[in-house]
Amino acid sequence: MSLIVQKYGGTSVGTPERILNVARRILETQQAGNQVVAVVSAMSGVTNRLIELANEVTGENEPTEREMDVLLATGEQTTIALTAMALNAMGSKAVSLTGAQAGIETDGVHTKARISNISPAGVHELLDDGNIVILAGFQGKTPDGKITTLGRGGSDLTAIAMAAAIDADLCQIFTDVDGVYTCDPRVVPEARKIDEISYDEMLEMASSGTKVMQSRSVEFAKKFGVVFEVRSSLNNNPGTLVKEETMSMESVVIRGVSLERAQAKVTISGVKDKPGTAGKIFGAVSDTNLLVDMIVQNVSQTGITDISFTVHKDDVAKAEKALEPILSDLGDDTQVEAEDGIAKLSVVGIGMRSHSGVAAEMFKALSEAGINIEMISTSEIKITVTVAEEDIDRAAQVMHDAFGLAEE
Ligand code: ASP
Ligand code: MG
Repeated sequence: MSLIVQKYGGTSVGTPERILNVARRILETQQAGNQVVAVVSAMSGVTNRLIELANEVTGENEPTEREMDVLLATGEQTTIALTAMALNAMGSKAVSLTGAQAGIETDGVHTKARISNISPAGVHELLDDGNIVILAGFQGKTPDGKITTLGRGGSDLTAIAMAAAIDADLCQIFTDVDGVYTCDPRVVPEARKIDEISYDEMLEMASSGTKVMQSRSVEFAKKFGVVFEVRSSLNNNPGTLVKEETMSMESVVIRGVSLERAQAKVTISGVKDKPGTAGKIFGAVSDTNLLVDMIVQNVSQTGITDISFTVHKDDVAKAEKALEPILSDLGDDTQVEAEDGIAKLSVVGIGMRSHSGVAAEMFKALSEAGINIEMISTSEIKITVTVAEEDIDRAAQVMHDAFGLAEE
């Protein structure tokens, strides 16, 4: 008998029919002789709707975070009850548990709390009594009993953390796609499902636009060595296994290509090239909780330089507002300019560590296709460039071809 944690995302439980489909799958898993903990998300759209409601009743004011969490946690609480009811109606023993009831303890940072401890004794007891446990994703409680939530997409984290806490034999993340692909199949039709991917590659792909799972949950899985599978709740195809890297994984140079549209480049010109300026700029920007991505500083010849960074195009106004008060500290004639219509293209693979020339190959293929590269940034296992947004689909296809990703 194996102990299995399954997680079903919002689309997988988005309608009563889909909840029944999920209930049947959970039941089949148990009937195959396993103990099952199924983590479920709020039905798709529900969390967004709750946020809208909160904004409607608070008007100009921000809802308090404590009450926001009380509200958001109801989305998942609805799904656990419905899923357990569906299973009960099928004649099966199933019980629902909120995060708090399942012993998931967090810190007190409302709306993005971190799990600090899980006491799974109650879950084990219910399983040993023959129950299927339906667990609310995305939530926990502080040691003094306040309801908390774990940040958007946090049901993934609940599943991974519970799998670690109960030492599950298998953790399956069910979603509406078959797994992680070499590229978005809507852009590159011959993109392939990846059979195995390392935690680090999964994280780099997530941060560069391939958003299959919440990044924090992948980090957690890496830290605690939780091997998990991402697969579809709509068919029985095998998915993508996410795990610690192995020797054979390194033989593949590039695992996948990610793309991210709707980016903008913000450039601050006339900045004095002296210690502390970059700190001031990115301090001001990060104080507004903006996610800054690629950063490029030009070489200064006269002691004056330009610094550029990319943000999502919807965040440009916020970035400009954050920079305004510090501009005069940065130089005598500093200016901020923003340019949108930009997209990011990344190639990711741990094989880059042992294969040289990947960047050269990438740049050559793009130039042969007549695609201009604007900014470049690299990590040990990722190279990212920005290109004009109108070129991004073609650029992704060119990369996919150049690295032979369509072949097994
Ligand atoms: N319902 C939450 C959200 O929409 C958590 C999740 O779906 O994982 O972000
Ligand atoms: Mg979700």
